[in-house]
Amino acid sequence: MARNKPCPCGSGKLLADCCLPIIKGDSAATAEALMRSRYTAYVLGYWDYLHQSWHPNTRPSRVSPSDTDWLGLTIVQSTTESVEFIAGFREESKIMALHEISRFMQVDHHWRYIDGQCDISEAGRNTPCPCGSGKKTRHCCGKRLP
Ligand SMILES: [Zn+2]
Ligand SMILES: [Zn+2]
Repeated sequence: MARNKPCPCGSGKLLADCCLPIIKGDSAATAEALMRSRYTAYVLGYWDYLHQSWHPNTRPSRVSPSDTDWLGLTIVQSTTESVEFIAGFREESKIMALHEISRFMQVDHHWRYIDGQCDISEAGRNTPCPCGSGKKTRHCCGKRLP
């Protein structure tokens, strides 16, 4: 486990100083911190944590493992109980953007994910890459496409 690698959530901190302690049981200080840790859990495959951090009323019976090729996360804005974000991923030969507004609630002092409104679309070649690099897709993740 690459604890000394940059955290997949894009915070600029090391994994061991960012999302990993939350995944391992520390409580997230904010809804945004929980959201970031859930993104990182999707990247690294912590399916049990994803299940556990879901609100008991809305969680699926299990979180199915998936091998989505995540490219990066950008937080658009966050409030106390919601986070709007864009997450980029690769699907076959396309760069896709997941744009979601997630809602969170505290249960026994732990932030939990309730649900989200999401919109998935193919990233434009000349629009900012959904990985959050700030470069155009065709100069960034789109360059490596077959
Ligand atoms: Zn992180
Ligand atoms: Zn990119």
